[in-house]
Formats: sequence, C-alpha cells, structure tokens
Amino acid sequence: MDSTPDMRFSAPEICPGCDGAGGSVVYRTGTKSPHTRQRFEPCPICKGQCEVPSAKALAYRLGRGMRESRVARGLSVFEMARLLGITARHLCDAEHGRLSLSQTRVVFDLRAKQEANP
Ligand SMILES: [Zn+2]
Repeated sequence: MDSTPDMRFSAPEICPGCDGAGGSVVYRTGTKSPHTRQRFEPCPICKGQCEVPSAKALAYRLGRGMRESRVARGLSVFEMARLLGITARHLCDAEHGRLSLSQTRVVFDLRAKQEANP
C-alpha cells in the first residue's frame, strides 16, 4: 500500500484502472509448448487489490483527463512535456496515475497555465 501522506488518510474506493476487477487475464503462447496459456496480470494501479485510496483514484482520473485533452489537441507526450518543461517520463507517469495526487496536481496546474498562455 502506498504510504505517501496524501494517500494515507483517504478512504478506499473501487479502482478506476480495472473497475474493481484487480487486473485482467492475458493470453500468451508459450515458447516451450504449443498451447496458449492464460495468465492473470494484476492491475498496475491497485496492484490487484481491486480498490485504491480515493486520493489515488482521483490522481488516476486527473491523469486520464490530461491524457484525453492532450490527445484531443494532437500533441505527443514528448511535445506536451516540452511545452510544460518536464520530462516525457514524468508526464507519462502523471497521465497513467503513477504519481501521488499532489505530484499529479503540480503537472495539472502546469497544464492549466500552459493552456491559458499557449
Ligand atoms: Zn485496479
């Protein structure tokens, strides 16, 4: 469980990354046997826990909204990151809900400023 300060005191809610499924079944063909094997891949957001602290769910939704608006503007992760003055890796982490809520908000605010003064 994440122990960053803004995660600790929030109530859990259904994970928005997997809708509470905890992950998804992936099919891969084995290299040693000709049979297709099923494997359960845990959700990267909740790590298979099916629920996440609400702060994390909010960070995920903020990130998804940022990704959708970036795609709507026709910008790549690299172009957007350059406009914001952050690394593409950091923007990608923010868009995929991999940062804490406070870190995601910093990126969100940078975007709001950039969109106000393009
Ligand atoms: Zn999940």
